[in-house]
Amino acid sequence: MSGNTGPGQIPPCWLCGAADGRLVVEVRARPEREIDFGIEPDRYYRAIYRCGRCAVFYSAHDLLDDDVYTGRYNESIYEHQLAERYDRIMSLPHDRSDNRQRVVRVTSFVGALGWTPKRTRVLDVGTGLCVFLGGMKEQGFRCYCIDPDPIATRHALEHVGVDGAYTGTLDGFKTAEPFEVISFNKVLEHVKDPADQLRRAVELLADNGVIYIELPDGQTALEHGTPTEREEFFIDHYTVYCPASLSHLVEAAGLTIAEARAIHEPSDKYTLYAFCHR
Ligand SMILES: [Zn+2]
Repeated sequence: MSGNTGPGQIPPCWLCGAADGRLVVEVRARPEREIDFGIEPDRYYRAIYRCGRCAVFYSAHDLLDDDVYTGRYNESIYEHQLAERYDRIMSLPHDRSDNRQRVVRVTSFVGALGWTPKRTRVLDVGTGLCVFLGGMKEQGFRCYCIDPDPIATRHALEHVGVDGAYTGTLDGFKTAEPFEVISFNKVLEHVKDPADQLRRAVELLADNGVIYIELPDGQTALEHGTPTEREEFFIDHYTVYCPASLSHLVEAAGLTIAEARAIHEPSDKYTLYAFCHR
């Protein structure tokens, strides 16, 4: 998309489609802490804009292959040692674990609705290491996941012991039984069509179901560093959020926010989370 954009033209926003962005920063080299996706240094250029319509930060570039998450992603980050990393993260104490605190947030919210874990089906989209479902399983929930990486889904089934795992994306996923909880834990910022992906999830949601979303909080992150220092703005995040853009995303999928908050996590990530329903 950005490749077709001539000088002076503003590329369209990944979230709302408006070509109404204000340039925040141009990034001309891989930041030191950013994952190395093997982009040639002379090809590395991306510009981060803030959308004048939906307020999302968006990174305009075409530097990552569409199949970046189908195996190579895990090769470069996890080096096929998902199980080892899973065990390490699962053993972190509550006060040092983003995931433990997330599990408490979700189980508390669901508990307040009066749902019992063994009757609650949870679908985690883009599950990766699968630590979230590992924590939910400990609480007795029925756990399912989707991930484009066959290494991740095999790990989920064999090591984490989820009840079901699907290799692919929401685009090809169907279910006979809808889910009470669907989670997107730092996933929607990685896709070029976040509102479409969220809409697809709504089709899989039980009538009274809840969608839990976590996204990088760009607005707060910029109060604590620059876009090249803060991982919230690294290359694999096409969109980075603030409360207004989170609302735009949720409303574009026909959802309503029941609870949303900005948090600073033990890993130093600035994050927005939201519980949403129809
Ligand atoms: Zn926008």
